[in-house]
Amino acid sequence: MITRIEPINEQSLRYAKEIILSGGVVAMPTETVYGLGGSAFNDEAVKKIFEIKGRPNDNPLIAHVHPEYDITEIIDYDPPYAADLRKAFLPGPLTLVYPSTGKVSPRVSCGLNTLAVRVPSHKGAQAFLRAVNIPVVAPSANLSRHVSPTSARHVYDDFNGKIPLILDGGECTGGIESTVADVTGEYPVILRPGLITREMIESVCGRCDVYAPELKPGDRAKSPGMMYKHYSPRCITYLFDENGGEAARQTARREAAQGRRVYFLCERSVAKALCAEGENVLDLGTSETEMAANLFALLRKAETVADVLIAIEPKKKDGVMAGVLNRLRKACASKDIPH
Ligand code: AMP
Ligand code: MG
Repeated sequence: MITRIEPINEQSLRYAKEIILSGGVVAMPTETVYGLGGSAFNDEAVKKIFEIKGRPNDNPLIAHVHPEYDITEIIDYDPPYAADLRKAFLPGPLTLVYPSTGKVSPRVSCGLNTLAVRVPSHKGAQAFLRAVNIPVVAPSANLSRHVSPTSARHVYDDFNGKIPLILDGGECTGGIESTVADVTGEYPVILRPGLITREMIESVCGRCDVYAPELKPGDRAKSPGMMYKHYSPRCITYLFDENGGEAARQTARREAAQGRRVYFLCERSVAKALCAEGENVLDLGTSETEMAANLFALLRKAETVADVLIAIEPKKKDGVMAGVLNRLRKACASKDIPH
């Protein structure tokens, strides 16, 4: 199969619609990462997405809709605070998990009795979703466990020959996947941190809990099956906390002595110091949104330039950094964490 990368215009959208309505799969940009899209109503399309990605069949998908789509077509229970969240943050990088009504393919939620729905703010994504005018499930367009894609080129690198079309909407500005919040209870619960932070949700709803079993540098999974090793660059990885600079340098010296190409991944202030010492660095940047936008592209770059990636955690841990650290820790998780 030839994989075409096309800018988003009338012609490519017509082709994309034809593919989706006939049960095929199209990669599309969003403001967070690129997604591998298929009709949420089509069982075969959903099955194909799992197969192409090599995705474990207990990892549910998010249904994407355009801003004018009537979500009562796919959900019915909608607490008032969920409407407040939609008003405050949608379209945007926030996924809400509702009780499911069984309207979409049962494969979408992998046996859960809930359905995750998101309205992206990316103009190209919206044009595509309006063209097809049905909910499109679109997990990140990477091979399972590989780093999420933030450009059409990243998608091509993973799926060349496997899908007919990649809609090219430029580089994603958000950089990490959407915040996922469960709205089936009395107040929202964050299941996956992202650019819409706990503090932002609390400012709208008064209360927001976080359910996110977290890995720390050096930790092992406490409960098998609770988490997947995700977002992994194809190189040896180490992760040190913000005080682990000396241990990181020692590791670098040890690895370099074995003849391996070593790169550090860290925030700008640390990157500058390491650079001055003659080390190779991948600079995450300074602000939290900049670090979110750069993370996945730098992890993908690491696998092309480095044999060993040594990441040092940025100092800030809350706000958007909760999402950045969640991805960084999973990317660098030790290999014996159960997938
Ligand atoms: P991806 O699109 O690759 O970022 O993966 C979608 C993620 O959304 C899943 O890994 C889950 O973390 C989350 N998700 C999707 N559907 C549900 C659901 N029904 N309940 C809870 N989390 C969900
Ligand atoms: Mg993913």
